[in-house]
Amino acid sequence: MAPSAIPMEGSTASSVVLKNGNSNTSALTNAGVTSNILKNAPSVINGAPVVNPPELDASLLHFIPNPAPKCVPHPSEPCVAEQKTCTDHMMTCQWTLSNGWAAPEIKPYGPLSLMPTASVLHYATECFEGMKLYRGHDGRLRLFRPQLNCARMLMSSSRVALPTFNPAELLKLVAKLCAIDGPRWLPRDRPGHFLYIRPTMIASDSALGIRRPREALLFVVMTMFPAMDANPRGMRLLASRDDMVRAWPGGFGYAKVGANYGPSLVAQGEAQAQGFDQILWLLGQDCQVTEAGASNFFVVWRTRAGAVQLVTAPLTDRIILDGVTRRSILELARERLTGAGARLAGGECAPLEVVERKFGMGEVAEAAAEGRLLEAFVAGTAFFIAPVSLMRFRGTDLCVPMPEGGVMATLKGWMRGIMYGKERHEWGYVVDEEE
Ligand SMILES: *Cc1c(COP(=O)(O)O)cnc(C)c1O
Repeated sequence: MAPSAIPMEGSTASSVVLKNGNSNTSALTNAGVTSNILKNAPSVINGAPVVNPPELDASLLHFIPNPAPKCVPHPSEPCVAEQKTCTDHMMTCQWTLSNGWAAPEIKPYGPLSLMPTASVLHYATECFEGMKLYRGHDGRLRLFRPQLNCARMLMSSSRVALPTFNPAELLKLVAKLCAIDGPRWLPRDRPGHFLYIRPTMIASDSALGIRRPREALLFVVMTMFPAMDANPRGMRLLASRDDMVRAWPGGFGYAKVGANYGPSLVAQGEAQAQGFDQILWLLGQDCQVTEAGASNFFVVWRTRAGAVQLVTAPLTDRIILDGVTRRSILELARERLTGAGARLAGGECAPLEVVERKFGMGEVAEAAAEGRLLEAFVAGTAFFIAPVSLMRFRGTDLCVPMPEGGVMATLKGWMRGIMYGKERHEWGYVVDEEE
């Protein structure tokens, strides 16, 4: 069935015009908006002709330039490591149930104004995204597969009763903010650097009652971020304790919602106090390996039968986040490392099996004990791709080799090439700069 033909139960909503043609995502978005109206304001639909409240529309953007732009710090300055330095502008857009999305604004970066009773402050009605803007070696600015982030943001917002929107419009707004602040904050003569982009949605509804929010705010800010994948000793991971889980079946571990992160910081703090970089989140009696911190987790091992496998947890139980980096690694590995002639950067023959399946910490420990654990690494936008050197599991330290030119290094090289424009690839989304 064509996406635009999705029937809307019990309503006259089939008269809703699907403005954005037949792209899957926009049809789903419109369907989502309609179901949102049905749930929250059935009177809009009962009998009366359907009035679609205004959708998120980047063409209505209003730009208020910052009259006092900051000095741009060098990426090596200490303030950058604090991850607080934002660029000169931010994008904001308000939504209310009755009036839909207002005209978006790009305006000087600064504080938000919220009532103390705002829903987000009490009920964690919040979701976010993490993307990067890269200054390429060819002088151009690029995003990396930003369509996936915008689609995921819609999925996350729906999970916490925040309003729906057309992800393609969000992408236009992100790109516009990048076009405005990119040229000064990522100078052309400093290729290989990036800004971190944080699209966020919060429920600003000031009613303290526990209910679906009727007011929300979408905003996008950009910050300077240190490169976190350059730690030469490798990441040290502490496996989570039996009495603390990050996500569970039927929960919301698959959504990038703030509610997943606050409660994980106790374990994260304990890990850091013991000299580890991140928690390796396990789940259940069989100590299923899920994710590491806010990154996806991969191992490369040799099976007892002799096959070399790249293994990561599956998306099926909705326990882990469908990372853009994870997805890209799996796609590149399947495309370029599974064939007979495939070679790793170090020259070794690759033929690799790429496997998404549940695996337990016991299996990882066995592979390590038998010398079959070849590599382990974490992958996410913030940390990019970083090797793991050690995992502590129930008092035992598993040491992990970090071969030069191995599977991780090969994939990381390709990804970096695409991000910084060394390889022309459809995943690189070029931002046209405004100067
Ligand atoms: C953001 C995040 C990731 C990584 O996702 P990317 O799209 O690759 O940045 C992985 N796990 C969790 C829990 C996350 O929040």
